[in-house]
Amino acid sequence: MTEPTRYQTAPVELPLRLDLREPTPVDGCPGCVELVKVRERARAGGDMTTVTDCNVYMRRHPEGHG
Ligand SMILES: [Zn+2]
Repeated sequence: MTEPTRYQTAPVELPLRLDLREPTPVDGCPGCVELVKVRERARAGGDMTTVTDCNVYMRRHPEGHG
């Protein structure tokens, strides 16, 4: 199957988009509030691994935490 895909449902924009767009906390979710706190603290300390982890958890809300 080497048929070319004519309809691309998800257009590729910027390769580094993940770093630029961060998920927003869900309203009224203590887990998200906590993640934002941890994320900001980690960013201030240059711990980008933790920052990414927090973003991943927040993106998977509500199954990722809580
Ligand atoms: Zn949440």
